Amino acid sequence: MIEIPTQTKSQTFDLLNFEDTLQKIKSQAIGAEHDPEGLKKEFQWLKESGALKIVLPGEALDFNQPNMPALLNLLKAVGKANLSVGRIFEGHINTLYLIHLYANAQQKKEWYQGVRDQGHLFGVWNTQAQNGIQFYPEADRFKISGSKTFCSGVGIVNRALITGNIEHTDKKGWQMAIVDMSGISEQNIDKNSWKPLGMQASGSYTVDFSGYLLDESDLISRPGIYLNQPYFSGGAIRFAAVHLGGAEAIAENTIEYLLSLNRTEDPIQRLRLSNIMIQLVSGRLWLEKAGQHYDEWADDKTHEQDLISFANMTRVTIEDICLRIMDESNKCIGARGLMAPYDMERIFRDLTFYLRQPAPDATRLNVADFFIKKQQTGHESNI
Ligand SMILES: Cc1cc2nc3c(=O)[nH]c(=O)nc-3n(C[C@H](O)[C@H](O)[C@H](O)COP(=O)(O)OP(=O)(O)OC[C@H]3O[C@@H](n4cnc5c(N)ncnc54)[C@H](O)[C@@H]3O)c2cc1C
Repeated sequence: MIEIPTQTKSQTFDLLNFEDTLQKIKSQAIGAEHDPEGLKKEFQWLKESGALKIVLPGEALDFNQPNMPALLNLLKAVGKANLSVGRIFEGHINTLYLIHLYANAQQKKEWYQGVRDQGHLFGVWNTQAQNGIQFYPEADRFKISGSKTFCSGVGIVNRALITGNIEHTDKKGWQMAIVDMSGISEQNIDKNSWKPLGMQASGSYTVDFSGYLLDESDLISRPGIYLNQPYFSGGAIRFAAVHLGGAEAIAENTIEYLLSLNRTEDPIQRLRLSNIMIQLVSGRLWLEKAGQHYDEWADDKTHEQDLISFANMTRVTIEDICLRIMDESNKCIGARGLMAPYDMERIFRDLTFYLRQPAPDATRLNVADFFIKKQQTGHESNI
């Protein structure tokens, strides 16, 4: 069940219709993996539901208001329907958040209008391999050289926020820019680069941006701002929400499977179900608290480290929760339950793969650092 805070008349997000949209996305998930069109129709449905613009000014989950717990619930619900859709939707929300934080008034006007009027889908692509992105000055513009890896949704994203190195008079460092994807040829998308264990449908291919010309107005803020804290690390709670949606789908499918075989009276199965549900509910509590802390602390520098640390803990705890739920469910349903046409074989593959996010070890070490320093300095904090 998705809950949205009290809406005003101008906020037109229709929850009932959204539940239908999620049902449609869920029912198509099995075919979406091999659909040559990718997740085109799923994002058409999300556009029609109003979800693509939901965080824009005046909308139901406007970034200018303290809406993080509800946004996390929404991300969880989309992830539960289909983790690949959740990944791309989360990328769209993340991009709009970066625009909200750092773009100038004219840029916001143009990019928000694209979402409202044309249903533009955004994505943020920061990951790269050796052949990463450089922005070279050329007359009064910048020419891109290099590629990004893991470009989720590249076949359907209209505007991509990419990062790259810039070195030009007053601009030096890691710069954000928006690329109009209609200017990137199909040939620049390497479809052979994506042969993953799961999340096939997210179509996270490698893209070569070489030769694309950026105007000054395509650059967002100054170099280095992308890594600005607490927003950079704090954002991990959003992908954790999508992950937990996948775990919630596994939990529900497991109960349904056992019910269908009349196996819910068996005490060992009940014990495993109990473990699954305790994990799931604690994940929900972590998310809820993380959302509340985000709203309390995001604009309060004195709580910057608290926010980062709580987000780090939430992220790694939800990773562990998802792994434990998969382990218990795996034993509950056995081989037959892990075969098509049951959904679980796909959700297990998707969640296992999608849980691999940047720097998991460093994130845990940062949690230890926070608590050691907290004790050494006597830093006041309620975590
Ligand atoms: C489905 C999916 C979609 C994605 N979509 C996007 C997207 O749209 N945009 C985007 O920018 N990115 C995207 N990513 C990439 C993502 O953000 C991460 O960069 C990526 O998942 C991390 O990959 P990895 O596990 O191979 O990392 P690695 O850094 O190789 O980590 C693997 C393990 O090695 C450890 N490790 C890391 N560094 C070292 C070291 N120096 N020495 C020893 N051990 C080390 C880590 O702690 C971890 O345990 C996506 C990823 C997935 C899975």
